[in-house]
Amino acid sequence: MTAKVLINEQNMSTFICPKCNKAKTANVSKFKDIEKAVRIKCNCSCGHSYSVILERRKHNRKQLNLVGAYTSLKDNNRGSMTVVSLSRIGLGFEPSIEHKFDTGEKILLEFRLDDKQESLIKREVVVRSIKGNLVGVEFSRHDHHDQLGPYIAWQVG
Ligand SMILES: [Zn+2]
Repeated sequence: MTAKVLINEQNMSTFICPKCNKAKTANVSKFKDIEKAVRIKCNCSCGHSYSVILERRKHNRKQLNLVGAYTSLKDNNRGSMTVVSLSRIGLGFEPSIEHKFDTGEKILLEFRLDDKQESLIKREVVVRSIKGNLVGVEFSRHDHHDQLGPYIAWQVG
């Protein structure tokens, strides 16, 4: 089995020797433009050499900054928020002013993508997690027939 190693935004990767468990962090700038995963060979200081799959996750860690608004279906309370992360099944947002959401509560979100058309996206979502100011929600429907579908594909890769 070949281990997978990710390249971070500073073009550094950490390799762990399967024989002695020693971790080595190295600059992998020369692989920074790879489109697909590449297999590379590592030489550990213990003398063992092993191969790993080196891969870059495009956009995955990028913090989004999509502005919009939420409307609570419980009490029609409305406020502004910023979407900071996005996946096919849900997203994370930060309300501009503190607001108490309940896990399981349904809210409406509308926000603009930072694509050329600044597409307006409207979704009903369910609150799944609350961590400090970050609210994690799941889309009520996971199929996206508007601009959000291609946008997620582009963001997440
Ligand atoms: Zn080793």
